[in-house]
Amino acid sequence: MEVKTSSNFIKNIVIEDLEKGKHKEIITRFPPEPNGYLHIGHAKSIVLNFELADEFKGKTNLRFDDTNPVKEDTEYVESIEEDVRWLGFDWENLYFASDYFEEMYQRAVLLIKKGKAYICDLAPEEIRQMRGNLTEPGKESPYRSRNAEENLDLFERMRKGEFKDGEKVLRAKIDMASPNINMRDPIIYRIAHATHHNTGDQWCIYPMYDYAHPIEDAIEHITHSICTLEFEDHRPLYDWVIRECEMESQPQQIEFARLNMTNTVMSKRKLKLLVDENVVDAWDDPRMPTIAGLRRRGYTPEAIRSFCREIGVAKTNSTVDVQMLEHFIREDLKPKTSIVMGVLRPLKVVITNYPEGQTEILEAENNADNPELGSRQLPFSREIYIEQEDFMENPPNKYFRLFPGNEVRLKFAYFIKCNEVIKDAAGNVTEIHCTYDPETKSGTGFNARKVKGTLHWVDAQNAVPVEFRLYEPLILDDEESDKNFLEQINPNSMEVIQGYVEPAVKTAKPQDKFQFMRHGYFNVDTKHTTKDKLVFNRIVSLKSSFEIKK
Ligand code: ATP
Ligand code: MG
Repeated sequence: MEVKTSSNFIKNIVIEDLEKGKHKEIITRFPPEPNGYLHIGHAKSIVLNFELADEFKGKTNLRFDDTNPVKEDTEYVESIEEDVRWLGFDWENLYFASDYFEEMYQRAVLLIKKGKAYICDLAPEEIRQMRGNLTEPGKESPYRSRNAEENLDLFERMRKGEFKDGEKVLRAKIDMASPNINMRDPIIYRIAHATHHNTGDQWCIYPMYDYAHPIEDAIEHITHSICTLEFEDHRPLYDWVIRECEMESQPQQIEFARLNMTNTVMSKRKLKLLVDENVVDAWDDPRMPTIAGLRRRGYTPEAIRSFCREIGVAKTNSTVDVQMLEHFIREDLKPKTSIVMGVLRPLKVVITNYPEGQTEILEAENNADNPELGSRQLPFSREIYIEQEDFMENPPNKYFRLFPGNEVRLKFAYFIKCNEVIKDAAGNVTEIHCTYDPETKSGTGFNARKVKGTLHWVDAQNAVPVEFRLYEPLILDDEESDKNFLEQINPNSMEVIQGYVEPAVKTAKPQDKFQFMRHGYFNVDTKHTTKDKLVFNRIVSLKSSFEIKK
């Protein structure tokens, strides 16, 4: 059983509202703009909204907040639906904000009739300049006093396409001296002659986010509209729109701290730049913090959900260590995956006293902590591969792996002892010669002498050549610097190497996950794996210094 989040301030609001009878049932929504793929930050919002409603037997809508025609695309709509489902959530209704354009327009007409909105001819730059700042009030637009009749006529002509982009806007008439700059006659409609992914060329005027969002929430009878802290100062405008547009339903906006994570960019706009600049191969590149990238890397929905629950819901911004996310994927995969052997950088070992032409089959258990995973067969013969770093000709102190004269254990097999080092003309070690002791076979209880090192290995004759892709953080710096994040990209974020895995792994399919002994957890890549070659993404290495506080 998965444990749900403990108490948080949003849950307390919901409990109170239900107890007071303010709502019969709660309705939340996850409202992404389809202008990119979802990232791990969105997962936090998804888990919060869906699990909150679920816990109180309410409902959650998936709503595409598609009010900006220029950046939105059906590719993103489809990816978002896939990602939310993959995370394990099922929405009550699927809505598009663009389906409400007519109602939004009519509510704007109502505002105009009430003298609460006016058409302004100032250029966007002039509007910005006249808005004032934290210490100075704004200046009123000369168009502020236009009468309702003229405003209605102009608004209708805006809709008909009589004006060019930027020529006119519709502004809410609130208070140019308000201490809250968001209330200084904000723009609520703008002209954009652009084709919309859903409504095509039906509209050339589009509502602004601050106007559209509260109406969308109200139309859907959302009870708790959860958003990130940046919108706290927009709440008075949210409430103004609900009130002045005379919406029957009154959703409550509640803000929580967004997820920030070390070494991670968390913005669709920036992630799109990485794709467009070919820094990564696509939105689902395994280095991307997108849900699609995490999935391809090998993350599971369970791990992501556990992470989102653990980070919790707070009222102040903070930055989570990316190692915490890694902790949860290890925890999830540890009991679920078979622990098999793969050699990343092979070095050939010839066991000179092992009979030529003989292969014996050893039995290897898949996961000592989970007997249900069973066991597999492991061929062993005269030539094997070990890891290059598991051999040193002149080892330092306390090196317990293979070196001339030293004996080590081969996991599931025998003790071997290094007798000879073979080198090429340039002096590079090309293979090493060992002898094995037949008495030391694994599982026979041999204990006449002990060795300190245990190595993983792959039988050379039966080894399956595969590609391993090892990853490091894509972003080097933790600083949130808007301008030069492209300069913080790690040039060594991916290493591609050719190695071998044991034959039991040969039939693995895309998305199959394994623990490769001593190397970490790996996932079979969905894009680059062919019927002739497996490609493994390292999800995470085995160890982390991170510990969850209990
Ligand atoms: P981005 O800048 O990445 O596009 P956004 O907030 O503009 O982010 P939306 O598509 O508008 O993206 O977001 C949908 C929902 O996801 C919103 O309710 C938003 O608050 C939430 N969300 C986005 N980023 C985060 C984050 N880092 N942590 C928590 N919630 C987030
Ligand atoms: Mg956005």
